[in-house]
Order: sequence, then C-alpha cells, then structure tokens
Amino acid sequence: MLALQGDFREHIAVLHSLGADARPIRRPEELSEVAGLVIPGGESSVMDKLSRAFGLAEPLKAAISSGMPVYGTCAGLIMIADRVLDAIAGQQSLGGLDISVRRNAFGSQLDSFETDLDIPVLGESPVHAVFIRAPIVEQAGPGVRTLASLGGGRVVAVEQENLLGTSFHPEMTGDTRFHEYFLAKVRSA
Ligand code: GLN
Repeated sequence: MLALQGDFREHIAVLHSLGADARPIRRPEELSEVAGLVIPGGESSVMDKLSRAFGLAEPLKAAISSGMPVYGTCAGLIMIADRVLDAIAGQQSLGGLDISVRRNAFGSQLDSFETDLDIPVLGESPVHAVFIRAPIVEQAGPGVRTLASLGGGRVVAVEQENLLGTSFHPEMTGDTRFHEYFLAKVRSA
C-alpha cells in the first residue's frame, strides 16, 4: 500500500479484512518486500512530488515495468497513467497504463457524486461507486480493457496486464470485490 499521502488507511483496512498482509510503503526497501501495490486516492500532484522526494518514483516505475500488480484508485489511477491531462505544471506520473487520463474531469458542478455501475468481471450485481474530484480515462491504447464506463465514452475502470485502475473509491463503500479481484491478480502473478 503506497502510504505517502491520501486514504491509504481505508485500503489497508479492506485488505486486512480480506486476509491480506497489507502494509504501508514509504521507502524503496519496503517496496521490495511486497508482491503487489495499491496506490490510493488523494492528490496526485502531491503524491508525485513526495514519491520523487523520497526516492520512490524510480523504484516504483521499475516495479511496474517488471510486472508487479498495481491497483490505482482515483489519484492512484492518475499516478499509473502514461498521459495526464490538466496536470499541474511539472506534474509527472509513474506511467505504465497506456491511457490518457483527465484530472478533475467532472468539473466543479459535479465535484463528487455516487452511482451504480455495471462491472461484468465482478459479477451480476452493480458496484456502488463514489467519485470525488475524479479523473476520467479519455483515451486508451489497444492493450487496455475497459471494465466500467459511465456512457458517452467516459471510461472509469480499466485493466492492462498487471495494472488495474478505477476513477472511483471502492475502499469507501464496503464492497470488497475490486480488492478481491486485485488480490487474485497478485496471487496469480
Ligand atoms: N483530483 C485528485 C487528483 O488530481 C484526485 C482526487 C481523489 O483521489 N479523490 O489527484
């Protein structure tokens, strides 16, 4: 669990409830001890600055390209995107996921909202999704699979090999299916 900034405690609680040995990662040495990584929601520009300041950005990029399973939620999705639209000046991402993601894509009119999404890979019943100043996936390369969309081309959950990303916050709803899906990826990696 990347624990530089954001709502990592909520993710750790969900992962523990599922029996995973989840722990906060703040230093490069800690990264080499885990088999997968969740990057939480928060503020991507701050997470970017902290990851570079703490010498984590390069080890994180290396882990992603070596195939470590990584799940990014909201700001975490922005962190693993190859291209970030409406980034602040100088903001970088770790990359890996062949997508263009737009920060704060819903604008101030619709800062935060909740809705139910059909996500066939997680089963029949819809997933209740909480969006908070959320990004949207505006473009995706051929290797990226769309898992959920709001319609109108507004993609909000994607997967590409070892990488999983959602615009919304499954750690806030009590529905653990995304975390279970990710843990299955970690186990099979
Ligand atoms: N708007 C934030 C960002 O750009 C993301 C918000 C969130 O993670 N809930 O990083």
